[in-house]
Amino acid sequence: MIKFEQVTKRYDSGQEALSNVSFHINRGDMAFLTGHSGAGKSTLLKLIMRMETPTVGNVMIAGQNIAQLDRKDIPFYRRHIGVVFQNHQLLFDRSVFENVALPMRISGSNELEIGKRVRAALDKVGLLHKEKSNPIALSTGEQQRIGIARAVVNKPALLLADEPTGNLDPELSEEIMNLFRDFQQVGVTVLIASHDHELIQSMSLPVMTLASGELVSFG
Ligand code: ADP
Ligand code: ADP
Repeated sequence: MIKFEQVTKRYDSGQEALSNVSFHINRGDMAFLTGHSGAGKSTLLKLIMRMETPTVGNVMIAGQNIAQLDRKDIPFYRRHIGVVFQNHQLLFDRSVFENVALPMRISGSNELEIGKRVRAALDKVGLLHKEKSNPIALSTGEQQRIGIARAVVNKPALLLADEPTGNLDPELSEEIMNLFRDFQQVGVTVLIASHDHELIQSMSLPVMTLASGELVSFG
């Protein structure tokens, strides 16, 4: 599902954020991506989202070299990727329902489809009863679950998470990880960037470790 072939990313500043990185993650697998701040985690995620392109090497997603995507096809490509952020980036000027509906409105889905999929996504994260609430009225853990519902509303084949448990206590973190497991079990490929060592050690998942842009281990 995700294959990096000797990928080097050098920014215009000259900074080499990734150096000759190769790995693959099979469809339906779930893995952690870890490393200190500045190790290259965000860069790796941005390459997968096609927000950056490699300086050298190939990023293959579902068998396709995504550097070769036409500019006009990039928004369509990104629709197949769900992204979960640490700070969930919810909008407090609209309801939970509308927050989750956002990616579908952007992709121009019809109202019937939106209603169906938003409620299915909210149901999966256990928050269907909150659809009319304003996200500001929810707890931190609930807000993060809304962020996850929004990430999966377009039924992505790939789910990326950037420090999804960054400001959650261990119990809520476990709850979020269990949700990711649920999505993995229905065939979604899940990649989670995190430097929460305790959390990583508590889960028996493959761990990719970056150090100064190099992939130092994957196991
Ligand atoms: P992490 O997510 O592990 O903290 P990043 O991928 O954000 O690591 O950064 C890796 C390196 O690339 C760092 O040295 C960072 O300063 C640099 N970097 C990240 N984004 C840019 C950019 N847009 N332009 C120049 N350098 C960048
Ligand atoms: P960091 O704190 O390491 O920079 P962030 O969590 O802020 O990492 O996310 C990295 C960047 O990717 C941010 O600028 C965010 O806005 C952007 N981003 C991630 N996914 C998407 C997406 N699907 N569409 C638009 N921007 C995105």
